[in-house]
Amino acid sequence: MSNHLFDAIRAAASGDAPFIRLSGGRTWTYDDALAFSGRIASAIDTLGIRPGDRVAVQVEKSPEALILYLACLRSGAVYLPLNTAYTLAELAYFIGDAEPRLVVVSPSVRESVRKVAEPHGAIVETLGTDGTGSLLDLAREEAADFVDASCAADDLAAILYTSGTTGRSKGAMLTHGNLLSNAMTLRDCWRVTAGDRLIHALPLFHTHGLFVATNVTLLAGASMFLLPKFDPDEVLSLMPEATMLMGVPTFYVRLLQSPRLDSEAVASMRLFISGSAPLLAETHVEFRKRTGQAILERYGMTETNMNTSNPYDGERIAGTVGFPLPGVTVRVTDPTTGAALPAEETGMIEIKGPNVFKGYWRMPEKTAAEFTADGFFISGDLGKIDRDGYVHIVGRSKDLVISGGYNIYPKEVEGEIDQLEGVAESAVIGVPHPDFGEGVTAIVVRKPEAALDESAILGALRDRLARYKQPKRIIFADDLPRNTMGKVQKNLLRQRYADLYART
Ligand code: ATP
Repeated sequence: MSNHLFDAIRAAASGDAPFIRLSGGRTWTYDDALAFSGRIASAIDTLGIRPGDRVAVQVEKSPEALILYLACLRSGAVYLPLNTAYTLAELAYFIGDAEPRLVVVSPSVRESVRKVAEPHGAIVETLGTDGTGSLLDLAREEAADFVDASCAADDLAAILYTSGTTGRSKGAMLTHGNLLSNAMTLRDCWRVTAGDRLIHALPLFHTHGLFVATNVTLLAGASMFLLPKFDPDEVLSLMPEATMLMGVPTFYVRLLQSPRLDSEAVASMRLFISGSAPLLAETHVEFRKRTGQAILERYGMTETNMNTSNPYDGERIAGTVGFPLPGVTVRVTDPTTGAALPAEETGMIEIKGPNVFKGYWRMPEKTAAEFTADGFFISGDLGKIDRDGYVHIVGRSKDLVISGGYNIYPKEVEGEIDQLEGVAESAVIGVPHPDFGEGVTAIVVRKPEAALDESAILGALRDRLARYKQPKRIIFADDLPRNTMGKVQKNLLRQRYADLYART
């Protein structure tokens, strides 16, 4: 029997070499992790879970949680990780939508989750180590020699719900083939080998921490320091023993705040990768100045895994997300007519390749609407490809501001505001406006002690931006709302300021 993704993981695994490294020097070797994944797969099978059944998982990050993912791949079950921050009501939505056969949660919420899951026919298990009949206890009683389910490239491996930054979360269906081809491509592009040691401080419920960080490590037979969360001091302390960090831009902003960050601190590191949200050019430049290393920025999404990456050897250009990955086609089209646009022109980014998902779970119409007739996924991101072939993300189509009939890309306006002395960061949104349709509105976070007011910012922008792009109002805030992946939640800002220009 053959299991498309897991066979490749097993082939790359290097026996008694460390796979997961924990604080205090404890490790899980590849042999330990694979044997335990066999036991969990057997326990899942004993519970009556069959290939194609969904297994929803909402647990804290741990080696066992990661090994449960491997067990699902082996058993042919569809792995469905959920954000640990979701409330019971949110969990109930996902359970109703995905109809998992098994739901795995922390012991403290088992009883309340049972009430919402059992009416949907789901079994609820915990991943506790409290000896009270959790999935781990069941697994320990099973033999490790599980016979892997046969899984073809086109079979579903996972359903990953999108973050919901632009609306209700949708379940993206990812196949064994999607995950394997993308992880192999990234491993080769980033030259990841068994000798690499990754600092893994990302959550396991998002494409970045799971399908990029974890799968790439597995398919290289490399090892990872598994951290429950990002802590700049802990990460800096680990750097002398590590070789790679994969992070969101906020990781880099926070590392830069530490006086410990310098070229000596990163001497054994060979690769810093950033994704999931735009990395400010300022952060890229500052990091390079302090460490001598250029962050490699890449671009991906739940539906397509990774699409582009700055080069390993060539120049990593700040403000770009690099070149399309081998095998992936990226094009830019006119959002109204769908016609392909030439280099340097901004439009809708469309993607085709083995990385692109199978569709949204139980949303055939939504799926059809997001693909072009010739099979490209319409990403919802606006951008351009420059003359050298680097892809630039300009913003998301849902964030585009249309004011007085003009299209305004928030990122351009934010870029100008962020350069002003005393500005820490900004977010530009469109707010309903009686005269202009939408009014360009900037929410600005000032640096401590900065004496900057609205008229100073508006005055400075007058020479930098065409009149229609200039904000109608500047609103000062202490911080910007962000989700767990560090993305600014513009939907929340739009709600918060919806009445700003309402006539009284
Ligand atoms: P939803 O689709 O429900 O709104 P979401 O899009 O936030 O959720 P993700 O799939 O996690 O969920 O995010 C993918 C998006 O993140 C991309 O479409 C893009 O807008 C943004 N993104 C990812 N990497 C980068 C990057 N390097 N630079 C700029 N934007 C990026």
